[in-house]
Amino acid sequence: MAQNSPPYLEALNPEQRAAVFHSGSPLLILAGAGSGKTRVITTKIAYLIREEGLDPRSILAVTFTNKAAREMAERARQIDERAADAMLRTFHSFGAWFLRRNGTLANLDSGFVIYDDDDTVALLSTLMDDTPRAEVKQTAHKIARAKDYFLTPDDPELDLIDHRKKFRKTYADYEERMAKIGNVDFGDLIKKPVEILRNNPGTAERFRERFRVIMVDEYQDANIAQFELLKELCGPHTYLCVVGDDDQSIYRFRGAEVKNILEFPNRFPGTEIIRLERNYRSIEPILRAAASVVDHNAGRLGKKLLSERGAGKIPVLAFLPDQDEEAVFCRVLIENARKSGVPYSHWAVLYRTNAQSQGFEHEFLHHRIPYRVVGSLKFYEREEVKDALALLAFLVNQRDEVAFRRVVNKPSRGVGPATMDRIVTEAMFSDGNLAAAARRITSELSAKARSGVETFLGALEKGRAALNADAATVETATAADTTEPPAKKTKKSAARGGSQEALRAGEGLSVCLVTLVNEAGIAGYHLSHDEIAGNQRIGNLQELANGASIYPASVTGLLQFLEHIELDRSLEQDTDDTAVDVVTLITLHNTKGLEFRRVIMTGIEQGVFPWEDKKGDELEEERRLFYVGATRAMDELYFSSCAMRRLFGRTMPMEPSLFLRELDKECLQVIGDAPYGFVSTAAGKSRPKPSAGISGSKPQVSSDGRWHLGDRIYHDDHGYGAITGIRESGEDGPVIRVRFDTGREQHFLSLHQSSHYTRIGSDD
Ligand code: ATP
Ligand code: MG
Repeated sequence: MAQNSPPYLEALNPEQRAAVFHSGSPLLILAGAGSGKTRVITTKIAYLIREEGLDPRSILAVTFTNKAAREMAERARQIDERAADAMLRTFHSFGAWFLRRNGTLANLDSGFVIYDDDDTVALLSTLMDDTPRAEVKQTAHKIARAKDYFLTPDDPELDLIDHRKKFRKTYADYEERMAKIGNVDFGDLIKKPVEILRNNPGTAERFRERFRVIMVDEYQDANIAQFELLKELCGPHTYLCVVGDDDQSIYRFRGAEVKNILEFPNRFPGTEIIRLERNYRSIEPILRAAASVVDHNAGRLGKKLLSERGAGKIPVLAFLPDQDEEAVFCRVLIENARKSGVPYSHWAVLYRTNAQSQGFEHEFLHHRIPYRVVGSLKFYEREEVKDALALLAFLVNQRDEVAFRRVVNKPSRGVGPATMDRIVTEAMFSDGNLAAAARRITSELSAKARSGVETFLGALEKGRAALNADAATVETATAADTTEPPAKKTKKSAARGGSQEALRAGEGLSVCLVTLVNEAGIAGYHLSHDEIAGNQRIGNLQELANGASIYPASVTGLLQFLEHIELDRSLEQDTDDTAVDVVTLITLHNTKGLEFRRVIMTGIEQGVFPWEDKKGDELEEERRLFYVGATRAMDELYFSSCAMRRLFGRTMPMEPSLFLRELDKECLQVIGDAPYGFVSTAAGKSRPKPSAGISGSKPQVSSDGRWHLGDRIYHDDHGYGAITGIRESGEDGPVIRVRFDTGREQHFLSLHQSSHYTRIGSDD
């Protein structure tokens, strides 16, 4: 076979090729990071279309993020154009697509809106009178978990999540209420399609006829509900191929279990397993470093993984004073590399929690390093943005109580909780339409409340008028049909580029949005606040309107807009992909499946990473996250660990992460001030010794131009001193020797530690 293979198949190794040619029984590809699992899927899509003559529409490939889905489509299309017609989606986007077409079988109309976590909390709080918000949130979380595990309110196993009767009751009430409102939460995007397929054999048959081949990437993170969905979609003639890596399972908190992948062969009898053991992504020391940490987990399969790329620069571990220095460290690395021709896009800065991006953003902005934040929810979490989105959501679904309560009295116009309750009750006894209910009871309200309600209803009417299509004719095509969302601006420009002027409507759907926001008084409200606080909320609303302008001014356009926002922000947390040469700022979780030439893993401290005081299984999951992060790097890998960090509004001393102690010191170069006792084993071998070779006489000026021999300097802790030596260490830049007036001598790395040394003049 091989000698006549087309080049795209020639590019595979024998195991990968076997996986591409495989047919018949279910197939599990179980292999480590960077071994070409995703490549096998994309090649297989093209192969089935080209060589086996399969109709592309009969292929369904599921991945973890929309970005990954787009990349997959692109890679497959490069081999064969027709791959564009295959369906490549995330589980959730597939679920939304399915429900838009078949939702009526579960009493959903096609105009449903997808609730995010905040919306579900808001809805729940209406069912849990006098319950503290933290507890409501906790309950919302448990309901989401229950759905991940495919548990209904009457399932005996629900006890595993919460054994109290009260929880069952709340979950049941919540489901009943959601059914009445006619919207869905994220869990429903998976759970409801399963129920529909189970209860409607004819529909199930149609889907099994349609999708003859189903493939799943990152299978280790599929949860139980997603597994059930797969099972329902697979008929006797469906070919199923899943790929994954047990060492990269990082979503236990979303109901994924490592054992899902390990038990796959039991659940799909006859499964064949193919292992891939060559890593094409990373140089050998990077792989070794990553493996040395995950090796500390118990109960692994323990796969072989050999680097095809061989030797290279060993990973660097930098001990830094605090997070400001950490940001400087990253910036300087990136700037220096840039001077020798390395583009920004080769770099990714990884962190454990979203909030950590702020410091890097600040530093990069000030030094004009272009960057993109992947995974930040911030923009859509802003109050004014949520208000505008709630207005839009209520416009398409007037049974949406959460949206209604959020905006009917915003800004305050005399519609208090009692009036809201009155309207909600009125609606409950009819068809649930809150706007109609409000209209019916206005005569009973106080003059103030009546005028408030009328303003709100008037705004809705004007917003509706700005939609030129008829509400009754929601087309079946929805946002979920378009694999590519229309190009959007980044939220950075939204956050920082706002102006103080009133909102301006542009094209398309933005007219509706701007009309609504203006008429409801939200724009005016924020405009006056902006003037005082300067927080550019109008700028954010304007950016939202800019985003809406590329959608048509119709109900369909509005649904597309809302759906894209929901899926984008909570499922995959992608951002703009259009700018090319930018540094990527990204949480560790979001790096799944991606690769970058150079990676800096930051905040490798106890309490930050591993997060909080994780133990047992949770600690193992953090370790797998470490493995995922480190194996994203192709050529260079850096770790940074700070001695101090601002957390919860205070500056706290930090301990290096347990993972740094576990790292194989043979493949680690340590720079900066290692905490006492850290360097024990072989690390000394690779640790630079700044004192060696400083001649005191040779260079007069450091290569970065910052320091001259004989300069007087001041240090916060050690007082005054003078520079007595400069040495260029190559990779780490200039090493500066200082003799303090106290007699103390110290070295520092100009690139990374300058901020504590102030030059106050020269000796001569
Ligand atoms: P992860 O577990 O991180 O998702 P993966 O197993 O899906 O990784 P891929 O992303 O498919 O790995 O491949 C990793 C890199 O190796 C990619 O750049 C890919 O193009 C390259 N690659 C895969 N197989 C080969 C091969 N046979 N020859 C050359 N390069 C390859
Ligand atoms: Mg992959």
